Amino acid sequence: MNKILDVQNLHVSFTTYGGEVQAVRGVSLELHEGETLAIVGESGCGKSVTAQTIMRLITEPAGRIKSGMITYRNKDLTALSEKQMRRVRGAEIAMIFQDPMTSLNPTITIGKQISESMIKHQKISSTDANKLSIELLKLVGIANPKERLKQYPHQFSGGMRQRIMIAMALACNPSILIADEPTTALDVTIQAQIIELFKEIQIKTGIAIILITHDLGVVASIANRVNVMYAGKVMEAGLVQDIFGHPQHPYTRGLLASVPKLDEDKSRPLVPIPGSPPDLFAPPQGCPFAQRCEYALEVCVHAEPPLTTVHEHHHVACWLQDDRAKGTEFPTYRTK
Ligand code: SF4
Ligand code: MG
Repeated sequence: MNKILDVQNLHVSFTTYGGEVQAVRGVSLELHEGETLAIVGESGCGKSVTAQTIMRLITEPAGRIKSGMITYRNKDLTALSEKQMRRVRGAEIAMIFQDPMTSLNPTITIGKQISESMIKHQKISSTDANKLSIELLKLVGIANPKERLKQYPHQFSGGMRQRIMIAMALACNPSILIADEPTTALDVTIQAQIIELFKEIQIKTGIAIILITHDLGVVASIANRVNVMYAGKVMEAGLVQDIFGHPQHPYTRGLLASVPKLDEDKSRPLVPIPGSPPDLFAPPQGCPFAQRCEYALEVCVHAEPPLTTVHEHHHVACWLQDDRAKGTEFPTYRTK
C-alpha cells in the first residue's frame, strides 16, 4: 500500500505561564492508503496534539512545531502557509472530534452546514450540494435524509450528531480522516455502531483513518496498525495482531492488562498501572516510563531507549530489547 502520510521526528511545545510543555517529543508515524492507524495512550500522552499538528491546528505563539516533517503526498505540511493549509484541511485531510455539539452550529440547519463546506471548497452549486448532502446522509446511515437536512443539531441524538460530523468530514472527499476520540462521549451500543460505520465507509471510499482513542476494544475491532504513545513519544508501534498478541513494551503490557477480556473471569480485578506519567515541563532524560516500570534497569534512568525493530513492522522503544539487557551488563534499577 502506498504511504500517504509520513510524520518524521515531530516535536511540539506549548508556552504556558508555568514554562514550556514538551507535548510531542520526536513522534514518527506513517499512514498508508486505505488503512486504519490507531494512536493509543493515556490522556496527556500527546496523541491529540499529534493529530492537531498534522492538521496544523496548533497555533503560535502558544503552540509551536519545534522540528520535524509532516509529508502528505510529497508535500511538507509544516512548510505550507495558512492559506495553502486551508486547501488541505477538509479537502485532503478532515478531522472529527469527541463532542459533535461543539463543532456543529446550533442555529443553522444541518443541510446548510454540510453544503457550506462543499460550496466553498468544491465550487459547486447549492442544488448539487444539496443532492450530495442527501447522498452523504445516506452513506452515514441517516434515514429520511431530505427531511433531516432541514433540521437543527438539537433535533438529533448524540450518535446521530456524530454521524453528521462524519458526513461533513467526508463532504469534500478527503483521503485521510482523523478521528479524535470519536466515540468517547457516546454510550456503548452507539459506539459500536459508529465503529461499524467507519468500517463501511472505509470499504466504500478507501479513505485512510487515523483513530485516536484510549479504548483498546475499539482499536482491536477496527485498526490495522497501532502506535502506543506515552509522555509525548511512541513507545511501541506495530500491526494490531502483534501489539495485542505479542506486546513487547512494559507500558503496552500494562495497558493491555488493565482491560478486561471478553473470554475471561469477569471477577478479575482491573490492574491499573501504578504511578503517573512524568512532568512534561521537565521530561526525564531516560525512558519516560522508568519510574513506573517494574523491569527498569539503571540504563533506563539515564539514557533514552532507541526504537528497536523486533520484527518487520513491529518497533519498540525499550532497553529490554537490547542484547546487553539479557546479560548482566545492565544493572537493575529499583524504583521503590
Ligand atoms: Fe522499562 Fe527500561 Fe523498558 Fe523503559 S526502557 S520500559 S524503564 S525496561
Ligand atoms: Mg485528547
